[in-house]
Amino acid sequence: MSAKKKLIVANWKMNLNIHEASVFVHQLAQTIAVHRDVEVVLAPTLLALQSISLQVDRRQFKLAAQNFYWRDFGAFTGEVSAAQLRGLVDYVLVGHSERRHVFHEHAKDIRSKVQAALRSDLKPILCIGETAHERSLGETNGVIHDQLLAGLANVTSEEFHNVVIAYEPVWAIGTGNNATPKDVEKAIQTIRRQIEHLYGKTAAENVRVLYGGSVKSDSAATYLATTGVDGLLVGGASLNQHEFTTIVEAAHHARENN
Ligand code: PEP
Repeated sequence: MSAKKKLIVANWKMNLNIHEASVFVHQLAQTIAVHRDVEVVLAPTLLALQSISLQVDRRQFKLAAQNFYWRDFGAFTGEVSAAQLRGLVDYVLVGHSERRHVFHEHAKDIRSKVQAALRSDLKPILCIGETAHERSLGETNGVIHDQLLAGLANVTSEEFHNVVIAYEPVWAIGTGNNATPKDVEKAIQTIRRQIEHLYGKTAAENVRVLYGGSVKSDSAATYLATTGVDGLLVGGASLNQHEFTTIVEAAHHARENN
């Protein structure tokens, strides 16, 4: 299998205003080295995307939108489409647990967003994962199966090259509850098995699968060394310069582990 770049995504959520985001990007640019084997993606507030896109060196940082609406244009007051984000960002988050559980996005919305992203040449990072309740009922594999099937419906093999999957158990996001490497390895095995079923063995090996859920500088290396993990989706720790810089360095030092 060809070596894959590690992918480290910073999800700043609804934190930092335009000025603060710009100052923080400036600080990160001082400490995050450009490594050929690591791709670093920043997902700031939508408001800051335009200014940050002019500020960053795209070899150092790529950009992602945290959210968008699935229609391309039209009378949808307050919304921003993937078509409008084209050229500004490389990636978009889709199906993040906060979108699913706080904003009640359903499978149909998520499927439409994946398709809208691909239509506009943006790479969707499709986030999937079970809640604590689902986990307690032993439904982790079933949730992964359903969320993948729903999110990827109508995605062709050719389009699938541009899809990234993030396994983010809901109970681990923003809680400080760490999934064990064994949990993560098993879930990612399930993901790749299903991708193989849908798109074939090569696609299953090549798709980038991230882990996300309370990753910090002291746990990053362990997750990155876990079989099947190609990178990390980082929330809270991505708002701290030292933490995030250390996580990117851990990705550079991680070995290919599929
Ligand atoms: C996230 O926002 O996707 C996330 C994983 O957050 P945290 O790292 O804070 O758990």
